[in-house]
Amino acid sequence: CIREDLVNATLRGTVRYPHLFIGGEWVAPEGGGMLDSIDPATGRPWASVAYGGRRDIDKAVAAARAALDGPWGRMPGHERAALLYRLADIYQKRAPELTLLEARDSGRALRETRGDIGAHANWYRWFASLADKIWGRTIPMDDSVHIYTSRLPVGVVGAITPWNAPMLTTSWKLGPALATGCTVVLKPAEQTPVTALELAKMIEEAGFPPGVVNVVPGYGKDGAGEHLVAHPDVDKIAFTGEGATAKAILKTGADTLKRFSFELGGKAPHIIFGDADVEQALNAATSSAWAVCGQSCALGSRVLVERPVYDRVVEVFAERAAKVRVGMPLDEATHMGPQSSDEQLRKTLSYVDLGQAEGAQLVTGGRRITSGALADGYFVQPTVFAGVSNQMRIAREEIFGPVASLIPFDGEEEAVAIANDTAYGLTAGLWSRDLGRAHRVAAKIRAGIVWVNTYRYIRWTTPYGGFKASGWGRENGVEALDSYLETRTTVVST
Ligand code: NAD
Repeated sequence: CIREDLVNATLRGTVRYPHLFIGGEWVAPEGGGMLDSIDPATGRPWASVAYGGRRDIDKAVAAARAALDGPWGRMPGHERAALLYRLADIYQKRAPELTLLEARDSGRALRETRGDIGAHANWYRWFASLADKIWGRTIPMDDSVHIYTSRLPVGVVGAITPWNAPMLTTSWKLGPALATGCTVVLKPAEQTPVTALELAKMIEEAGFPPGVVNVVPGYGKDGAGEHLVAHPDVDKIAFTGEGATAKAILKTGADTLKRFSFELGGKAPHIIFGDADVEQALNAATSSAWAVCGQSCALGSRVLVERPVYDRVVEVFAERAAKVRVGMPLDEATHMGPQSSDEQLRKTLSYVDLGQAEGAQLVTGGRRITSGALADGYFVQPTVFAGVSNQMRIAREEIFGPVASLIPFDGEEEAVAIANDTAYGLTAGLWSRDLGRAHRVAAKIRAGIVWVNTYRYIRWTTPYGGFKASGWGRENGVEALDSYLETRTTVVST
């Protein structure tokens, strides 16, 4: 059910998006120009997309402020909910097209992208269901005062998203922002701008008032991203991306003391105890190692394995890595597409060299694929390192490639110590048939989400976010609303 003309246009590489979406209108950029979106499977441009600069961000922020001061700011929660439900329906209908476009833009395999995008409407519906339940409290004191709190939208939100999961990270921000009554300027990553502009068409079709959502693709440093962060009339930045970028954003935004929420990197421990259902654990651990070509913050990139089952785990990882079908993203048979950019490919390959230099054993993979139809794209083999120590840089730094590091351990205490010996704290997994151990270990792990006998279970209802260098705040669940709201306390003398 994908529009044939769109499929053909994407395959010819003739897709053009010449406009930004500002104040409910499609406008040519004033401060930017046109950028090429590169197809990571071929290394060639496939779409030409408008990008904005300072002047466009100024216009978008002004439109978002005007919307906040206009009908949107006075709209009751149930009406915002109705718009969000309508958006969810449109999104669901258009999911096949979005899937195709995101697979082209990011290089993620079609079958994987379909599962991801196919679920996003649930996020919009979840936040729609919360939009009319944003309540304050009454606080009892004594007869002389009446105290109550009100929860108000934080204001204009600058949403800055990464290239690895463009529509997922967008729905996690747009949903709570719109449910709480904020307005948004969305700046997608320069590598993957297309689907955000398609989303703007859906916002328009759903009937959101002009200026409630504005979409301005652009660059980060010295570009639309930095202008958005520095802008004095932006109340909050909701960011997903790298820790180094978050630090730069904090510095740029410091003068305006705006609010920030950050979803950053991870180096998740995926712990397999000897008493686990090892086959099930292996299914989860191996598929998580290659998912999104290793380009997801949630993946279990450090596989901690209890020594009695270590050799078996290494063997199965090697077998399965060799069976991963690496191929063109739009081929239905493909399990794993290319890395999203040349830069990311080089980064992954440099860590493969580093791992060997550090003394880890390269069990399989580690090379760029240079043959046949994949030769020009950014394809890399699924890679397994054994004999990894947690002190090695391949175990400490986020590689963002399909590279699994298998680390042996002895007993619960060592597993917990290794799991927590990291700058990050986003996700973790553990496998054990001993329920007491599972709860005991889960309680000691410093991470925003701990999966027990499952992995990567993420839903709209489940709070998601990081401890330590993995971020500030939570997305999803009811907790997601908190960072989009201010609390006003009213104290009335009676
Ligand atoms: P990135 O930090 O390079 O870029 C993210 C966004 O920030 C892009 O839109 C970019 O244009 C913008 N940007 C860059 N510099 C900026 C600046 N100085 N000011 C304002 N904006 C700027 O990240 P990436 O490489 O696109 O994404 C990969 C990273 O995202 C990984 O570290 C990954 O772990 C993380 N990630 C985290 C989660 C999560 O939920 N925790 C989810 C997905 C990705």
